[in-house]
Amino acid sequence: MKMLVATNNKHKLEEIGAILKELDIDIISMEQAGINIEVDETGETFVENALLKAREIAKLTDMAVISDDSGLEVFILNGQPGVKSARYSGVDGEQKDTKNNEKLLKNLENVPFEQRGARFCSVIAAVFPNGREITAEGYVYGKIGYEAKGSYGFGYDPLFIVDGYDMTMAEINTETKNKISHRANALKDFVQKLKAI
Ligand code: IMP
Repeated sequence: MKMLVATNNKHKLEEIGAILKELDIDIISMEQAGINIEVDETGETFVENALLKAREIAKLTDMAVISDDSGLEVFILNGQPGVKSARYSGVDGEQKDTKNNEKLLKNLENVPFEQRGARFCSVIAAVFPNGREITAEGYVYGKIGYEAKGSYGFGYDPLFIVDGYDMTMAEINTETKNKISHRANALKDFVQKLKAI
């Protein structure tokens, strides 16, 4: 089976491609499909945004389309940055991840370690040529550290100390991240739902 991945984020594309390959699904990128649009994420939840992206791109292709909307929820910050994870600091471009991480550390200044609990969330949405839709979700739990560590991954990975590992997500190699991540868990849930239809 082949699916078009509705994302312009190359990190997500690589992770989704690697995880789905294990599950016998091949992916096509938007670039390969000759689609070059950015869908505005106007939804208030991960589910709304994931569906929004998959539905918009599905209008432009005959292929099944899969999208991911994801982010970080920090419990003591009432779930922030949440759906605004990518835009948390308001900075775009190359400095985006660094600025987002700086803002998060500032908002958690003086918060003791045991109160720095957080989770990464991923919602996968798929839209099929017959109009059928599937959504699936996955999580990984951890704590926000006091400084950035590691160079794998992207986004908030250098701050996110994974439960059960004494390491940040950015210190954990890609192969392991792709087994334990929120995205991996959401894609496993997705494949279960796909098999059931
Ligand atoms: P969106 O799904 O494109 O709206 O953006 C998701 C944002 O959440 C990314 O820009 C990152 O800041 C954050 N995020 C999502 N998944 C991950 C991950 O696997 N590691 C680190 N940060 C992530």
